[in-house]
Amino acid sequence: MSSDHPKTVAPRAAGQLTLVAPRRAKPARHLADLSMDERRSAVAELGEKAFRADQLSRHYFERLTGDPAAMTDLPAASRDLLTTALLPSLLTSVREITCDGGTTRKTLWRLFDGALVESVLMRYADRTTMCVSSQAGCGMNCPFCATGQAGLTRNMSTAEIVEQVVAGARALAAGEVPGGAGRVNNVVFMGMGEPLANYKAVIGAVRRLVDPSPHGLGISARGVTVSTVGLVPAIGKLAEENLPVTLAVSLHAPDDELRDTLVPINTRWKVAEVLDAAWSYAAKTKRRVSIEYALIKDVNDQEWRADLLGKLIKNKLVHVNLIPLNPTPGSKWTASRPQDERAFVRRLESHGVAVTVRDTRGREIDGACGQLAAAE
Ligand code: SAH
Repeated sequence: MSSDHPKTVAPRAAGQLTLVAPRRAKPARHLADLSMDERRSAVAELGEKAFRADQLSRHYFERLTGDPAAMTDLPAASRDLLTTALLPSLLTSVREITCDGGTTRKTLWRLFDGALVESVLMRYADRTTMCVSSQAGCGMNCPFCATGQAGLTRNMSTAEIVEQVVAGARALAAGEVPGGAGRVNNVVFMGMGEPLANYKAVIGAVRRLVDPSPHGLGISARGVTVSTVGLVPAIGKLAEENLPVTLAVSLHAPDDELRDTLVPINTRWKVAEVLDAAWSYAAKTKRRVSIEYALIKDVNDQEWRADLLGKLIKNKLVHVNLIPLNPTPGSKWTASRPQDERAFVRRLESHGVAVTVRDTRGREIDGACGQLAAAE
């Protein structure tokens, strides 16, 4: 099939997109939801000395424990009170699947209200990356993405997002992941959900990730990537946060005609507007923007599209990350042929654009995007 309008691409109406999450009961308040000042007030309200908030924070963010028995610097009577009030259990592991000799580990979590989300730990020779979810489900309705098919259940809280990283950090610290004890170096918001549609909770989570202990986990902001379909106003807001996180834009097509179908929010914010927002982000943060492009056989992998993309982004602070499509169950689409992928890379490079092809870790464990939750 070589048509530019493959019949398998069903255009979705903009009305089906869900930018605002439905209102539901909220997850319990957790220390990771709160700034240090808020934690001190919360502890004081419980009748405890405010500095107990710092001690409790060190247990959680530094020693990665929520076990009152391990908190020997706290009076016995305070431990249970503080952990019950500020370290409620938010995530329950439902299923865990590993591959790559145990260095890729995907977890399906159940939240307090039964909602399911996924996170993935990927350990490489020189670093460990956690891929986290920011929403249960997703309202963006991208037809090639497993999460998009089920719609949005709800936004996750800041602490629910942070807990996924802490769980990974615990497993690494405990030596459960082959390669010896280690730590989380990178966090990518590329699990379920559209992070910029859950802006406040996601920014809170990023702050907890990057703030040094006892405020947070102390991961370098440069190691954090927020990936978005291209919610233009939110990209503008993110640029003002003074957080030098990497912005990834899921482009998947350089032309509005195709992008309207692959990333339906494009009917609201066009390719040109999304790229302008990305360049402003790069100018403000001095961070190289990443363009995500899932290569789908005969849908978006033509050389002319590589050329068009190259022209749109050349001479910018940008890098293209090509992702071989991970077909979702029942999908007619599949990854590009190797020769088409190579040609796409060459065309982009001919414009002087930096390109990488993402490794396909976790493919055999339905590594991409909501496939585990969909199977459940
Ligand atoms: N909502 C955000 C982040 C979640 S998805 C976003 O869209 O950027 C993370 C990345 O995986 C996105 O680039 C997304 O388009 C891509 N993706 C989703 N489903 C995929 C699939 N089946 N194969 C390859 N990449 C996929």
